[in-house]
Amino acid sequence: MGADGFDGIEQPDLNFDDIGGMEPVKEEIRMKIIYPLKNPDLFRAYGKKAGGGVLLYGPPGCGKTLISRATAGEIEANFLSIGIHQILDLYIGESEKNLHKLFELARDNAPAILFFDEVDALAADRRDLRKSAGRTLINQFLAEMDGNVASNDGLLILGATNAPWHIDPAFRRPGRFDRILFVPPPDEEAREAIITILAKGKPVSQLDARSLAQKTRNFSGADLKAIFDTAVERSLAQAMKQGQVVPITQRDLLDVAKSIRSSTQAWFESA
Ligand code: ATP
Repeated sequence: MGADGFDGIEQPDLNFDDIGGMEPVKEEIRMKIIYPLKNPDLFRAYGKKAGGGVLLYGPPGCGKTLISRATAGEIEANFLSIGIHQILDLYIGESEKNLHKLFELARDNAPAILFFDEVDALAADRRDLRKSAGRTLINQFLAEMDGNVASNDGLLILGATNAPWHIDPAFRRPGRFDRILFVPPPDEEAREAIITILAKGKPVSQLDARSLAQKTRNFSGADLKAIFDTAVERSLAQAMKQGQVVPITQRDLLDVAKSIRSSTQAWFESA
């Protein structure tokens, strides 16, 4: 993270093929963002243009950030990402000014996707004001989004939250986060696709992605990634002892899966 809490500008080298499942979400993003950018004349003839924001919500670790980065990859746009808490914590007293600077940086680097994580921290009705935004920051955010401050041509705003019900309704008006998409936990078919993607480029022998998908009910994409990360670490430790690659087996993956608690169920229980 940079000194000002901002990670910088990225040109993501990934696209929708790098994401398992999420077909309905991909299709909505294509219609709202990708097709209007690629066929501006056609969309204009129907009175539609690219713009407005998309808010993604759902349990943690299910790909909200990943699909936002992949959207930038699909349209070859720059990607700028920041958590609302970073703006609140690191820019104490300067939040409005720095939010403006961030929007300006994104405008200067258009076409760009500006991604805000933890958008629920912009809730106006939170009791803990230290952790939520004040009215001035919210108003500044809305003005920036509306393009009142400067033109937002070529700028797309994506947001993610685990708790959309905390968000000020003003954010959902047309031209703002006017499309709200649920990013669900991956179903069995999506888990199979994610497992296949995660296994790519790793020495996995005789992967049975279907069977692993069946045994990982309620696992998020991040939980599945944790299985592979742990299996890779264990295999690497062995490989270093033996001085050669030790293939990761289906059994290794299943053993690790048993030690990982699936995380999506808790979100549904608390939601
Ligand atoms: P949070 O709410 O905690 O910010 P998130 O929904 O933004 O979570 P991501 O950060 O996008 O989740 O996902 C975490 C990681 O899990 C990704 O970097 C990726 O490795 C893996 N992952 C999640 N979903 C998928 C998917 N559909 N396909 C492939 N990998 C996935």
